[in-house]
Amino acid sequence: MPVIPFSDPTALRVAAGILRSGSLVAFPTETVYGLGADATQDRAVARIYEAKGRPSFNPLICHVPDPESLVPLVHCDERARLAMAAFWPGPLTLVLPRREGCSLSPLVSAGLPSVAVRVPDHPLALALLRECGRPIAAPSANRSGSISPTLAAHVVASLGDRIDMVLDGGACGVGVESTVVDLTGRQPALLRPGGISRERLEAVLGALVWDVDNDVAPHSPGQLLSHYAPSCPVRLDAVSASPEEALLGFGAAGLTAGATLNLSPSGDLVEAAANLFAMLFKLDAAGWAGIAVMPIPDHGLGLAINDRLRRAAAPRDPRQGFIG
Ligand code: AMP
Ligand code: MG
Repeated sequence: MPVIPFSDPTALRVAAGILRSGSLVAFPTETVYGLGADATQDRAVARIYEAKGRPSFNPLICHVPDPESLVPLVHCDERARLAMAAFWPGPLTLVLPRREGCSLSPLVSAGLPSVAVRVPDHPLALALLRECGRPIAAPSANRSGSISPTLAAHVVASLGDRIDMVLDGGACGVGVESTVVDLTGRQPALLRPGGISRERLEAVLGALVWDVDNDVAPHSPGQLLSHYAPSCPVRLDAVSASPEEALLGFGAAGLTAGATLNLSPSGDLVEAAANLFAMLFKLDAAGWAGIAVMPIPDHGLGLAINDRLRRAAAPRDPRQGFIG
Protein backbone atom coordinates (compact mmCIF):
# COMPACT_ATOMS: atom_id res chain seq x y z
CA MET A 1 0.00 0.00 0.00
CA PRO A 2 1.76 3.20 -1.15
CA VAL A 3 2.57 6.04 1.25
CA ILE A 4 2.96 9.12 -0.95
CA PRO A 5 4.55 12.31 0.38
CA PHE A 6 2.64 15.54 -0.08
CA SER A 7 5.60 16.92 -2.03
CA ASP A 8 5.08 14.38 -4.85
CA PRO A 9 3.51 16.40 -7.68
CA THR A 10 1.33 13.49 -8.86
CA ALA A 11 0.09 12.62 -5.36
CA LEU A 12 -3.14 14.61 -5.39
CA ARG A 13 -4.20 13.51 -8.85
CA VAL A 14 -3.58 9.84 -8.05
CA ALA A 15 -5.32 10.08 -4.66
CA ALA A 16 -8.36 11.85 -6.15
CA GLY A 17 -8.60 9.15 -8.84
CA ILE A 18 -8.49 6.38 -6.22
CA LEU A 19 -11.27 8.11 -4.25
CA ARG A 20 -13.48 8.59 -7.32
CA SER A 21 -13.03 4.91 -8.19
CA GLY A 22 -14.61 4.02 -4.83
CA SER A 23 -11.44 3.06 -2.92
CA LEU A 24 -9.97 4.41 0.34
CA VAL A 25 -7.27 7.07 0.85
CA ALA A 26 -5.99 8.20 4.25
CA PHE A 27 -5.06 11.89 4.36
CA PRO A 28 -3.99 14.43 6.98
CA THR A 29 -6.30 17.09 8.37
CA GLU A 30 -5.48 19.62 11.07
CA THR A 31 -7.14 17.34 13.67
CA VAL A 32 -6.05 13.75 12.91
CA TYR A 33 -5.52 11.60 9.79
CA GLY A 34 -8.83 10.78 8.16
CA LEU A 35 -9.81 7.60 6.31
CA GLY A 36 -11.45 9.04 3.22
CA ALA A 37 -14.03 7.67 0.79
CA ASP A 38 -16.24 9.30 -1.84
CA ALA A 39 -19.27 10.20 0.29
CA THR A 40 -21.65 9.83 -2.65
CA GLN A 41 -20.88 6.11 -3.22
CA ASP A 42 -22.60 3.60 -0.92
CA ARG A 43 -20.00 0.90 -1.44
CA ALA A 44 -17.06 3.24 -0.88
CA VAL A 45 -18.57 4.38 2.42
CA ALA A 46 -19.30 0.78 3.43
CA ARG A 47 -15.59 0.03 2.89
CA ILE A 48 -14.70 2.60 5.58
CA TYR A 49 -16.69 0.63 8.17
CA GLU A 50 -15.14 -2.60 6.94
CA ALA A 51 -11.56 -1.29 7.07
CA LYS A 52 -12.06 0.16 10.57
CA GLY A 53 -13.82 -2.97 11.80
CA ARG A 54 -16.57 -0.80 13.27
CA PRO A 55 -19.18 -2.94 15.01
CA SER A 56 -21.92 -0.36 14.37
CA PHE A 57 -22.69 2.31 11.80
CA ASN A 58 -21.84 5.57 13.55
CA PRO A 59 -22.56 8.46 11.23
CA LEU A 60 -19.47 9.88 9.49
CA ILE A 61 -18.26 13.44 8.96
CA CYS A 62 -18.35 14.66 5.35
CA HIS A 63 -15.55 16.99 4.35
CA VAL A 64 -15.98 19.70 1.71
CA PRO A 65 -13.54 22.36 0.43
CA ASP A 66 -15.81 25.37 1.12
CA PRO A 67 -19.29 26.22 2.47
CA GLU A 68 -20.66 26.71 -1.07
CA SER A 69 -20.18 23.00 -1.76
CA LEU A 70 -22.81 22.29 0.89
CA VAL A 71 -25.66 24.11 -0.86
CA PRO A 72 -27.08 20.99 -2.62
CA LEU A 73 -26.46 18.74 0.39
CA VAL A 74 -27.80 20.31 3.60
CA HIS A 75 -30.01 23.12 4.88
CA CYS A 76 -27.99 25.98 6.42
CA ASP A 77 -29.74 28.43 8.73
CA GLU A 78 -28.38 31.72 10.09
CA ARG A 79 -26.68 29.97 13.04
CA ALA A 80 -24.86 27.63 10.65
CA ARG A 81 -23.71 30.56 8.53
CA LEU A 82 -22.39 32.39 11.60
CA ALA A 83 -20.50 29.32 12.83
CA MET A 84 -19.01 28.67 9.39
CA ALA A 85 -17.88 32.29 9.04
CA ALA A 86 -16.27 32.23 12.49
CA PHE A 87 -14.62 28.78 12.53
CA TRP A 88 -14.18 27.40 9.00
CA PRO A 89 -11.86 26.20 7.78
CA GLY A 90 -11.26 24.60 11.17
CA PRO A 91 -11.94 21.84 13.70
CA LEU A 92 -15.71 22.38 13.97
CA THR A 93 -18.23 19.86 12.65
CA LEU A 94 -21.84 20.95 12.17
CA VAL A 95 -24.73 18.49 12.13
CA LEU A 96 -27.32 19.91 9.71
CA PRO A 97 -30.56 18.64 8.13
CA ARG A 98 -30.06 16.67 4.88
CA ARG A 99 -31.65 18.18 1.83
CA GLU A 100 -34.20 16.14 -0.08
CA GLY A 101 -32.43 14.49 -3.01
CA CYS A 102 -29.03 15.03 -1.36
CA SER A 103 -26.41 13.01 -3.27
CA LEU A 104 -24.66 11.70 -0.14
CA SER A 105 -24.90 7.99 0.66
CA PRO A 106 -27.46 7.32 3.45
CA LEU A 107 -24.65 5.35 5.09
CA VAL A 108 -22.74 8.57 5.95
CA SER A 109 -25.77 9.61 7.99
CA ALA A 110 -26.24 6.04 9.29
CA GLY A 111 -29.84 6.43 8.19
CA LEU A 112 -30.44 9.70 10.07
CA PRO A 113 -32.12 12.71 8.43
CA SER A 114 -29.01 14.80 9.22
CA VAL A 115 -25.40 14.94 8.10
CA ALA A 116 -22.21 16.08 9.85
CA VAL A 117 -20.10 18.42 7.72
CA ARG A 118 -16.84 20.31 7.99
CA VAL A 119 -14.23 22.29 6.04
CA PRO A 120 -10.81 21.16 7.32
CA ASP A 121 -8.01 23.66 7.87
CA HIS A 122 -5.20 21.78 6.17
CA PRO A 123 -3.71 22.70 2.78
CA LEU A 124 -3.36 19.07 1.65
CA ALA A 125 -6.89 18.11 2.73
CA LEU A 126 -8.34 21.16 0.95
CA ALA A 127 -6.33 20.51 -2.19
CA LEU A 128 -7.46 16.86 -2.22
CA LEU A 129 -11.12 17.85 -1.79
CA ARG A 130 -10.86 20.30 -4.70
CA GLU A 131 -9.05 17.81 -6.93
CA CYS A 132 -11.53 15.04 -6.12
CA GLY A 133 -14.58 17.24 -6.72
CA ARG A 134 -16.73 15.10 -4.40
CA PRO A 135 -17.54 15.36 -0.68
CA ILE A 136 -15.26 12.97 1.24
CA ALA A 137 -16.49 10.99 4.25
CA ALA A 138 -13.64 10.53 6.69
CA PRO A 139 -13.56 9.22 10.25
CA SER A 140 -10.22 8.86 11.99
CA ALA A 141 -7.89 6.51 10.09
CA ASN A 142 -7.46 3.82 12.72
CA ARG A 143 -9.05 0.49 13.54
CA SER A 144 -12.14 0.83 15.65
CA GLY A 145 -11.27 1.23 19.32
CA SER A 146 -7.62 2.20 18.85
CA ILE A 147 -5.94 5.59 19.11
CA SER A 148 -6.51 8.27 16.48
CA PRO A 149 -3.49 8.71 14.16
CA THR A 150 -1.57 11.98 13.96
CA LEU A 151 1.25 10.67 11.72
CA ALA A 152 1.16 8.70 8.44
CA ALA A 153 3.14 5.97 10.22
CA HIS A 154 0.28 5.53 12.73
CA VAL A 155 -2.14 4.95 9.84
CA VAL A 156 0.15 2.38 8.26
CA ALA A 157 0.54 0.53 11.57
CA SER A 158 -3.22 0.39 12.13
CA LEU A 159 -4.70 0.02 8.63
CA GLY A 160 -1.78 -0.57 6.28
CA ASP A 161 -3.12 -3.75 4.69
CA ARG A 162 -6.72 -2.51 4.45
CA ILE A 163 -6.53 0.73 2.48
CA ASP A 164 -5.29 1.82 -0.93
CA MET A 165 -3.10 4.85 -0.23
CA VAL A 166 -1.83 7.15 2.51
CA LEU A 167 -1.00 10.76 1.70
CA ASP A 168 1.80 11.76 4.05
CA GLY A 169 1.53 15.39 5.14
CA GLY A 170 3.58 15.12 8.33
CA ALA A 171 2.17 15.60 11.83
CA CYS A 172 -1.35 16.92 12.42
CA GLY A 173 -1.35 20.30 14.14
CA VAL A 174 -4.40 20.08 16.44
CA GLY A 175 -4.16 16.38 17.28
CA VAL A 176 -7.65 16.05 18.76
CA GLU A 177 -10.87 15.53 16.83
CA SER A 178 -13.22 18.32 15.78
CA THR A 179 -15.89 19.73 18.07
CA VAL A 180 -19.30 18.41 16.95
CA VAL A 181 -22.29 20.77 17.25
CA ASP A 182 -25.82 19.71 16.33
CA LEU A 183 -27.83 22.51 14.70
CA THR A 184 -30.89 20.44 13.81
CA GLY A 185 -32.75 21.38 17.02
CA ARG A 186 -34.05 24.67 18.37
CA GLN A 187 -30.98 25.11 20.61
CA PRO A 188 -27.47 24.22 19.40
CA ALA A 189 -26.21 21.08 21.15
CA LEU A 190 -22.61 20.11 21.82
CA LEU A 191 -22.25 16.41 20.88
CA ARG A 192 -18.47 16.11 21.18
CA PRO A 193 -15.90 18.47 22.68
CA GLY A 194 -12.91 18.98 20.38
CA GLY A 195 -10.60 21.42 18.66
CA ILE A 196 -12.85 24.52 19.14
CA SER A 197 -13.63 25.31 22.75
CA ARG A 198 -17.15 25.58 24.12
CA GLU A 199 -16.43 29.17 25.20
CA ARG A 200 -15.47 30.25 21.68
CA LEU A 201 -18.54 28.55 20.25
CA GLU A 202 -20.91 30.09 22.78
CA ALA A 203 -19.53 33.54 21.97
CA VAL A 204 -20.89 33.04 18.45
CA LEU A 205 -23.87 30.69 18.87
CA GLY A 206 -25.13 31.54 22.37
CA ALA A 207 -25.69 28.89 25.05
CA LEU A 208 -25.08 25.28 23.94
CA VAL A 209 -27.01 22.32 25.31
CA TRP A 210 -24.46 19.86 26.69
CA ASP A 211 -25.35 16.57 25.00
CA VAL A 212 -22.08 14.73 25.45
CA ASP A 213 -21.99 11.24 26.99
CA ASN A 214 -18.59 9.81 26.31
CA ASP A 215 -16.42 9.12 23.34
CA VAL A 216 -17.14 5.41 23.20
CA ALA A 217 -20.91 5.75 23.06
CA PRO A 218 -21.64 9.34 22.02
CA HIS A 219 -25.15 10.46 22.82
CA SER A 220 -25.63 11.56 19.26
CA PRO A 221 -28.88 10.72 17.53
CA GLY A 222 -26.96 7.80 16.08
CA GLN A 223 -27.31 6.06 19.42
CA LEU A 224 -31.07 6.58 19.71
CA LEU A 225 -33.03 3.58 18.62
CA SER A 226 -35.94 5.46 17.11
CA HIS A 227 -33.77 7.17 14.50
CA TYR A 228 -33.01 3.93 12.76
CA ALA A 229 -36.47 2.46 12.61
CA PRO A 230 -38.78 2.38 9.63
CA SER A 231 -42.40 3.24 10.46
CA CYS A 232 -43.51 -0.40 10.05
CA PRO A 233 -42.39 -3.29 12.31
CA VAL A 234 -39.13 -5.07 11.50
CA ARG A 235 -38.74 -8.81 12.15
CA LEU A 236 -35.28 -10.42 12.21
CA ASP A 237 -33.94 -13.86 11.25
CA ALA A 238 -36.91 -14.53 9.01
CA VAL A 239 -36.90 -17.49 6.62
CA SER A 240 -39.98 -16.25 4.76
CA ALA A 241 -42.45 -13.36 4.84
CA SER A 242 -46.20 -13.26 5.38
CA PRO A 243 -48.24 -11.92 2.42
CA GLU A 244 -48.37 -8.44 4.02
CA GLU A 245 -44.64 -8.30 4.72
CA ALA A 246 -41.73 -7.41 2.48
CA LEU A 247 -38.87 -9.91 2.62
CA LEU A 248 -35.42 -8.33 2.78
CA GLY A 249 -33.08 -11.09 1.70
CA PHE A 250 -29.36 -11.84 1.86
CA GLY A 251 -27.34 -14.18 -0.32
CA ALA A 252 -28.53 -17.23 -2.23
CA ALA A 253 -31.18 -17.96 0.42
CA GLY A 254 -32.80 -14.64 -0.49
CA LEU A 255 -32.90 -15.63 -4.14
CA THR A 256 -34.45 -19.02 -3.31
CA ALA A 257 -37.05 -17.42 -1.03
CA GLY A 258 -38.01 -14.84 -3.67
CA ALA A 259 -37.04 -11.85 -1.48
CA THR A 260 -38.66 -8.49 -2.31
CA LEU A 261 -35.18 -6.92 -2.20
CA ASN A 262 -31.84 -8.61 -1.64
CA LEU A 263 -29.08 -6.85 0.34
CA SER A 264 -26.51 -8.86 -1.61
CA PRO A 265 -27.46 -11.78 -3.87
CA SER A 266 -23.82 -12.95 -3.82
CA GLY A 267 -23.59 -12.79 0.00
CA ASP A 268 -21.08 -9.89 0.02
CA LEU A 269 -21.29 -8.00 3.34
CA VAL A 270 -19.78 -4.79 1.90
CA GLU A 271 -22.52 -4.72 -0.72
CA ALA A 272 -25.14 -5.52 1.94
CA ALA A 273 -23.94 -2.66 4.17
CA ALA A 274 -23.98 -0.31 1.21
CA ASN A 275 -27.59 -1.23 0.48
CA LEU A 276 -28.95 -1.47 4.03
CA PHE A 277 -30.40 1.99 4.72
CA ALA A 278 -31.50 2.66 1.16
CA MET A 279 -33.41 -0.65 1.03
CA LEU A 280 -35.06 -0.12 4.42
CA PHE A 281 -36.19 3.34 3.27
CA LYS A 282 -37.49 1.91 0.01
CA LEU A 283 -39.50 -0.89 1.62
CA ASP A 284 -40.86 1.49 4.24
CA ALA A 285 -41.97 3.97 1.59
CA ALA A 286 -43.66 1.18 -0.40
CA GLY A 287 -46.22 0.81 2.41
CA TRP A 288 -45.64 -2.81 3.50
CA ALA A 289 -47.22 -3.81 6.83
CA GLY A 290 -43.83 -5.07 8.01
CA ILE A 291 -40.30 -5.92 6.92
CA ALA A 292 -39.00 -9.45 7.50
CA VAL A 293 -35.21 -9.61 7.32
CA MET A 294 -33.36 -12.83 6.57
CA PRO A 295 -30.33 -13.78 8.75
CA ILE A 296 -27.10 -11.85 8.16
CA PRO A 297 -23.81 -13.55 9.17
CA ASP A 298 -22.46 -11.99 12.37
CA HIS A 299 -18.88 -11.34 11.25
CA GLY A 300 -17.07 -8.51 9.44
CA LEU A 301 -19.55 -5.81 8.43
CA GLY A 302 -22.34 -8.19 9.46
CA LEU A 303 -21.78 -7.05 13.07
CA ALA A 304 -22.62 -3.44 12.15
CA ILE A 305 -25.53 -4.48 9.95
CA ASN A 306 -27.01 -6.65 12.72
CA ASP A 307 -26.47 -3.87 15.29
CA ARG A 308 -28.58 -1.50 13.22
CA LEU A 309 -31.19 -4.12 12.40
CA ARG A 310 -31.61 -4.96 16.09
CA ARG A 311 -32.25 -1.25 16.77
CA ALA A 312 -34.74 -1.10 13.92
CA ALA A 313 -36.54 -4.16 15.31
CA ALA A 314 -36.48 -3.09 19.00
CA PRO A 315 -39.85 -3.04 20.82
CA ARG A 316 -41.59 0.32 20.63
CA ASP A 317 -42.32 2.63 23.52
CA PRO A 318 -45.57 4.64 23.24
CA ARG A 319 -43.85 7.76 24.66
CA GLN A 320 -40.75 7.99 22.47
CA GLY A 321 -41.40 5.38 19.89
CA PHE A 322 -38.93 2.87 21.32
CA ILE A 323 -37.73 1.20 24.50
CA GLY A 324 -33.96 1.40 25.12
P1 AMP B 1 -15.40 10.29 13.86
O1 AMP B 1 -15.98 8.98 13.45
O2 AMP B 1 -14.27 10.15 14.82
O3 AMP B 1 -15.10 11.18 12.71
O4 AMP B 1 -16.54 11.01 14.72
C1 AMP B 1 -17.70 11.52 14.14
C2 AMP B 1 -18.56 12.05 15.25
O5 AMP B 1 -19.62 12.83 14.70
C3 AMP B 1 -19.21 10.94 16.07
O6 AMP B 1 -19.21 11.31 17.42
C4 AMP B 1 -20.61 10.89 15.49
O7 AMP B 1 -21.55 10.34 16.40
C5 AMP B 1 -20.86 12.35 15.16
N1 AMP B 1 -21.82 12.50 14.06
C6 AMP B 1 -21.58 12.35 12.75
N2 AMP B 1 -22.70 12.53 12.02
C7 AMP B 1 -23.68 12.80 12.90
C8 AMP B 1 -25.07 13.06 12.76
N3 AMP B 1 -25.67 13.06 11.58
N4 AMP B 1 -25.76 13.29 13.88
C9 AMP B 1 -25.14 13.27 15.09
N5 AMP B 1 -23.85 13.01 15.28
C10 AMP B 1 -23.12 12.78 14.21
MG1 MG C 1 -12.33 7.94 15.76
